[in-house]
Amino acid sequence: MSEPKNHWKNFIAGQWVDSVETLAIANPATGEFFATIASANLNDVDAAVIAARSCVNQGLLSNCRPAERTALMLRIADEIRAIAEHAAELVVLENGKRLKDAKDELAEAARYFEYYAGMADKIEGTSIPLGSDYVDYTVYEPQGISVQIVPWNFPVSICARSLAPALAAGNAVIVKSPELTPLAITWLATACQRAGLPPGALSILCGDGPTIGGALVAHADINQIVFTGSVPTGRTILHAAAERAVPSVMELGGKSAAVVFADADLDQLIDSVYWGIFFNAGQVCSAMSRLLVERSIYEQVIERVRDLAAGLTLGPGIDNSDLTPLASATQQQQVLQHCNRAVAQGAQLITGGKIPTSMPGYFFEPTIFCGVSAEMDLFQQEVFGPVIAITPFDTEQQAWELANGTEYGLVAGIFSQNLNCCLRGTRALKAGQVFVNEWYAGGVETPFGGTGLSGFGREKGQEALYSYVRSKNIAMRIAAGSA
Ligand code: NAD
Repeated sequence: MSEPKNHWKNFIAGQWVDSVETLAIANPATGEFFATIASANLNDVDAAVIAARSCVNQGLLSNCRPAERTALMLRIADEIRAIAEHAAELVVLENGKRLKDAKDELAEAARYFEYYAGMADKIEGTSIPLGSDYVDYTVYEPQGISVQIVPWNFPVSICARSLAPALAAGNAVIVKSPELTPLAITWLATACQRAGLPPGALSILCGDGPTIGGALVAHADINQIVFTGSVPTGRTILHAAAERAVPSVMELGGKSAAVVFADADLDQLIDSVYWGIFFNAGQVCSAMSRLLVERSIYEQVIERVRDLAAGLTLGPGIDNSDLTPLASATQQQQVLQHCNRAVAQGAQLITGGKIPTSMPGYFFEPTIFCGVSAEMDLFQQEVFGPVIAITPFDTEQQAWELANGTEYGLVAGIFSQNLNCCLRGTRALKAGQVFVNEWYAGGVETPFGGTGLSGFGREKGQEALYSYVRSKNIAMRIAAGSA
């Protein structure tokens, strides 16, 4: 592993910009600080917006032939692949996840650029027949300046998920990177710069959320907000957006359930449980944080999940350990509080629920609760840690009702060999995406987003591109010619 540099800067209009104030970045596996990054100030916010507006007004991305944007996006994908190794190591250091997952994250970031490269030259309008006296057509224009607020759990891939379609559609983008994990994202700026992205088309600022994120979303000259993060922050941002009616995409939290029927393939299920709740230490918006199990196999499933948890190695991401640390001490304490509350409310702790005393850093034991009923906080609230809540059900109808019984609606899953039952579930479940027999089936091609408190708008897939454009209809009267 290469030695990371210990001070990082913000990227504003093609320049690396320092600041007097800095933020310290810790390694979650040890708790030790290993780097600092310039903390942006309000002048930096203004500079980024002025540069983005200049890029938009000059049409640096929007006026070129779309095929040139396609080529640019493909070059960015190549450049991301070229820096992937360094950036993945940095993701491990700042976020704590497994090296192999960090490499997947970089690969996914490159895929977003490749995928939306293929769409940059296919943003086509429609022609609407109004009779021989008129010509009418609709075109799609970029929104303008897209402000994108990114969380810390998948910093690079979530950043690329919004950045790629926005640039493909010809927007200028200002990214507010997360305070906990802002370093590897800066490699995306390097990749874009090397690929020839015009200055001003991208700025990446790190800084305090309410101050710098708040200033960006309230800025009078921005045209779109894409927020990925928690429900409380999403609410605050929506108030700012409402002031100026700024179009917004909200990718918020979840409390997603897998519904397991007695005929499910349990090997397939257990593999999905690993990915669903222990991958990235459960810090995934679409985590499988609830497991609803048909009563006849309830005890058997608890045993299997307990065996899975018992077999996990806890350790640093750089060793590709099965269960890596949480991202911060704050996160660790929050997960502990959720577990303590679950015990106090009568949930049965099968294993875990504690911070391992023998380890440095922000680890948390793999945790299983059973007997979790719908009124308990553990059933209703997002934990964002390696904690699964298991609940029995007796009828199919009850299973769908339990799955839908929270204010969230991000994803849901069904495990059964019965195709009819699975299809009924895909219709009954309240979620933006339903997985059948594999948690996280899908890819950059499949639309992702929530309903209810999980937010609105879609990322990924062709559908997402249309968040980054606005339609304009042109209606023309044709004068009659002289005979
Ligand atoms: P968070 O809401 O605390 O922070 C997210 C980002 O918002 C950070 O960059 C932060 O600095 C910024 N921010 C904070 N206050 C702000 C303000 N007032 N104005 C503007 N920006 C502000 O969330 P987090 O703890 O970083 O991430 C975890 C949450 O994100 C979880 O709830 C998780 O479910 C959700 N999430 C959702 C998705 C999705 O695609 N739906 C993906 C990943 C994470």
